[in-house]
Amino acid sequence: MLYDVIVIGSGISGLYAALYAKKSGLKVAVITKSNPFRSNSSVASGGINAVIDLSAYDSVERHVNDTVAGSDGLSHRANIQSMCAEAPNIIWELKEMGVRFDSDDNGDVKQRPFGGASANRTCYIADRTGASIVQTLFVKCKN
Ligand SMILES: Cc1cc2nc3c(=O)[nH]c(=O)nc-3n(C[C@H](O)[C@H](O)[C@H](O)COP(=O)(O)OP(=O)(O)OC[C@H]3O[C@@H](n4cnc5c(N)ncnc54)[C@H](O)[C@@H]3O)c2cc1C
Repeated sequence: MLYDVIVIGSGISGLYAALYAKKSGLKVAVITKSNPFRSNSSVASGGINAVIDLSAYDSVERHVNDTVAGSDGLSHRANIQSMCAEAPNIIWELKEMGVRFDSDDNGDVKQRPFGGASANRTCYIADRTGASIVQTLFVKCKN
């Protein structure tokens, strides 16, 4: 069998990369060491930080500052800036794919406090955030 792209690892980053490669029409293989549903991504339960509610006195800049502080100065600020700016789009994209983030009665994604964040900016799916995302990405990659 011949492939255009080989992705190593089936955590969220590997599955996301595989999905994007597949979407661009390439033939993709994912090689992984263990059961995809046992990765770190699958057991991450707390949630994902994204500034989606500016009325909650939050801002991307604040998200960046919290993340840089949380990394104890080991991170690259420009990369953190890109990640934090892109985070809301990733949440919408995952939602469109079928990830069922906990939401309020209006259908707005709920956010809760999480370690190191100075605002309630963590999007979550009960206590199985990572597992739900991995399952959705896995199915999208297979279909
Ligand atoms: C208990 C726990 C809770 C967490 N909670 C959160 C949270 O609430 N929010 C948050 O943002 N982050 C959380 N994290 C961190 C988060 O899980 C990771 O940052 C994230 O999952 C990394 O994703 P990844 O796809 O890069 O790697 P992983 O999910 O670690 O995936 C790596 C993949 O590579 C495969 N692999 C490894 N070595 C090889 C090899 N030699 N050959 C082939 N395949 C290989 C593995 O089998 C796996 O499939 C948590 C982590 C843990 C462990």
